[in-house]
Amino acid sequence: MELTFYGGVNEIGGNKILLQEKDTSIFLDFGISYKRVNEFFEFPLLQPWNLDDLLKTRLIPELNGLYRYYNYNAKYDNTGPISIIKNPEERQIDAILLSHAHMDHYGYLGLIRGDIPIYLSAVSKKIIELYYRTGRNKFNEKIGHLLYKDIPKNSEIEIGDFKVKRYDVDHSILGASAYYVEGKTNIVYTGDFRLHGNKGFLTEEFLKLVEKEDIDYLLCEGTRLGLEKNEEERIVEEKVLNSEKEVKNKCIEIIESEENLVIYDASQADLERVKILCNVAKKTGRQLLIDSKKAFLLLYFNETENLLEDLPKIDDFKILLSRSKLSSSTNICKELTKDCPDFFLERFKTGRRNHEREMLNDNNFSEDQFIWGPAMRKEILSNPNEYIIYTSNGPLLLLHCKNYQEPFSGTYIYGKAEPFTEEMEFSFNRLIKWLELCNLKLKYAHTSGHCFPDDIKKAIEIINPENLIPIHTEYPEEFKKIIPKGVNLMRAELNDKLIL
Ligand SMILES: [Zn+2]
Repeated sequence: MELTFYGGVNEIGGNKILLQEKDTSIFLDFGISYKRVNEFFEFPLLQPWNLDDLLKTRLIPELNGLYRYYNYNAKYDNTGPISIIKNPEERQIDAILLSHAHMDHYGYLGLIRGDIPIYLSAVSKKIIELYYRTGRNKFNEKIGHLLYKDIPKNSEIEIGDFKVKRYDVDHSILGASAYYVEGKTNIVYTGDFRLHGNKGFLTEEFLKLVEKEDIDYLLCEGTRLGLEKNEEERIVEEKVLNSEKEVKNKCIEIIESEENLVIYDASQADLERVKILCNVAKKTGRQLLIDSKKAFLLLYFNETENLLEDLPKIDDFKILLSRSKLSSSTNICKELTKDCPDFFLERFKTGRRNHEREMLNDNNFSEDQFIWGPAMRKEILSNPNEYIIYTSNGPLLLLHCKNYQEPFSGTYIYGKAEPFTEEMEFSFNRLIKWLELCNLKLKYAHTSGHCFPDDIKKAIEIINPENLIPIHTEYPEEFKKIIPKGVNLMRAELNDKLIL
């Protein structure tokens, strides 16, 4: 068996690991390495546009039979018509096993050929579909051609020479999976996981089941190892709470001592956290406001089958519609701006697009179930102590809500991953500037989506592999401190091929 690491080693995220035995080739995840993207590109003027740009910069591997338009070339002719020369090739990759719907694990799927099955959990499949409908990442926009196959938890399928089992694990997004791949050599791939979240019992269950197997190689994530190495990271570390329950209690404590506005900032995809904030809002007697993308995820999750039992319902929150410019091609805009062309006219409650239109058309919302535009600013600024605004983009929210004259007053609770890259630090510093501008106090209430070192140690002890290969960590050597006796620690470098 051979393992090639096209991403996810010596870095957090970007997992793209190729597993090959005899005639079968499987990828474990196919995600974006933000660290390496930022080495070559800068938003918004210097960005990769297509497959070629990513291949040139080695952000994705150059492999035959993997990409949708790999051997396609446009022929431009000044005198005649433009044509596309197609040299389609045979499929060379049998499957992709997807661990979860975070971009650093699935972000480049849109480039993949439609005849390579992508195995994942039904929940991940639904999240990806709903993201697509709310319009996200450039390379994910076109995912309609992909062949998704969900595997029920703990069940086994055959892919060529391999038997593959999928397990549910807990992470900061629902539907996360770990995999056991059985061939001549047996491998466990943890994906991203933790034991201390509200669904930590899923990870316990996974560990119990793989404990029975003979594992030759464990590919284990180590995001949180070695974080204390750097002084700044250590300080942020101390702000990380130990469980989601502590996050809830911390939020209640902060909100109960705040008489003005509260804004909570957390990842877009973490629906467990939305659930917690719904509870916090009830406990503190405030109304939870969430953005339309999150509301769309919640309201459409179970549209075709009952995937998740206990999601917040429309009565648990109010929806904030996005701020966007009214298209100048509409009659109403032409009419209103005839004396002042290009005047910024905000889109109204009606005339919304994409997921907002779908949501407003499908649901018979009463007037007070959503707010938008100037009405939102007025309502929030006049009754700040009645609300908790849940956002995933603080600066954008503040830009939309702020009035020239009236400063805010209140608390901004940061509930996101600690900044671990330079880019993240830039955006965190930008947030601090916004908070100063808006006169908001900064507090923290977050726990990690990844295992604490002691839990990684516990997981390795239970799985008890012959060999361990660190992935999804900047400090792979830190595994030395926690690895149990008898387990051999291996190292993999980017683009390395290990022959097992
Ligand atoms: Zn993740």
